[in-house]
Amino acid sequence: MLKTDQQPRIHTMKAVRLHQFDKDLKRSNLVEIDDVPEPTVRKQDDVIVRIGGAGLCRTDLHIIKGNWNSKVGRPLPYILGHENAGWVHDVGDGVKHVKPGDPVIVHPLITDGTCPECRRGEDMYCPNGRFPGITHDGGFAEFFPTKQRAVIKLPPELEPKDVAPYADGGLTAYRAARKAAETMKPGMSVVILGFGGLGHIAAQVLRNLCAAQIIIVDTSEQALDLARECGFTNCLPGGNAAAETVRQLCTSGVDAVMDFAGEKETPEQCMSMLRKGGTYYVVGYGGIVSVPSIDLIFDELNVVGTLVGNYTELCELMILAAREEVKLTTTTYRLDQVNEAIHDLIAGQLTGRAVLVP
Ligand code: ZN
Ligand code: ZN
Repeated sequence: MLKTDQQPRIHTMKAVRLHQFDKDLKRSNLVEIDDVPEPTVRKQDDVIVRIGGAGLCRTDLHIIKGNWNSKVGRPLPYILGHENAGWVHDVGDGVKHVKPGDPVIVHPLITDGTCPECRRGEDMYCPNGRFPGITHDGGFAEFFPTKQRAVIKLPPELEPKDVAPYADGGLTAYRAARKAAETMKPGMSVVILGFGGLGHIAAQVLRNLCAAQIIIVDTSEQALDLARECGFTNCLPGGNAAAETVRQLCTSGVDAVMDFAGEKETPEQCMSMLRKGGTYYVVGYGGIVSVPSIDLIFDELNVVGTLVGNYTELCELMILAAREEVKLTTTTYRLDQVNEAIHDLIAGQLTGRAVLVP
């Protein structure tokens, strides 16, 4: 046994922890900055990442409200943050593909790598997956423990703090757009409903992966202006008249609609924009998709869901980001400004995605 004076000193770090749910998001301090023990390498596939940036996302608001509690039952307090990027700080003996100092982005799920789903490459289906920031301590901290299967070395053009939100939000948009792009041929058309954080990434991905006509629909004039600035020329106001306008623009409807709102009446609007053989991609959620089965048969329509994305898709997205073919707007906050960042997100006062920088 070690004598007291030989015991290793436990280092501490700053971390953002959720201590109490707030379903109305009213408290000024929704989360606390705490001193917690710094994570250390314990197993041979462990990777400790020094956080360069951690994205704040609407999912964090749902977590703070307590909406996820019934699904994951995670005891409080714990560290939030599931969109993480930084530099490798320390690795276990078995880690070969990254070394201390490498810039990395972290896939949001820690997976076992041995189940049939992992072997098919579908990380998100892993029955033994852990989701740091939701089910375990996350990356709103100085250091973050993960596994070698989750880390992707960044191309030299990319800075961790500039890419962190791709780890979840960006990846979700990428997977959805990539699915759509695989079926979109020249002469076809696709609607992106909602040109916000995820929609604007999906639009750029589609532009790079397929030759279909891209139509942006949003209820906000500001979002449509941003879309035009990004070079999208077919921009239409959202709302009840949008489906009719789309059908006029593309005789008998479009081949795909990607719904980044997924609330209230948007599922119905999106379905009514489709032509025969069309596909409705559901990314945003909260509403109900209700379609008469006869409509699915008669027009041979498809409804497709999307759950984040796999490791390979995150690698592909980093390649597009390094080539500047997909660009992300971010606003950075220090770790101790986290409550300010959360309230800016709630108030809709954020430009792009918020990133916490320790
Ligand atoms: Zn997220
Ligand atoms: Zn697995």
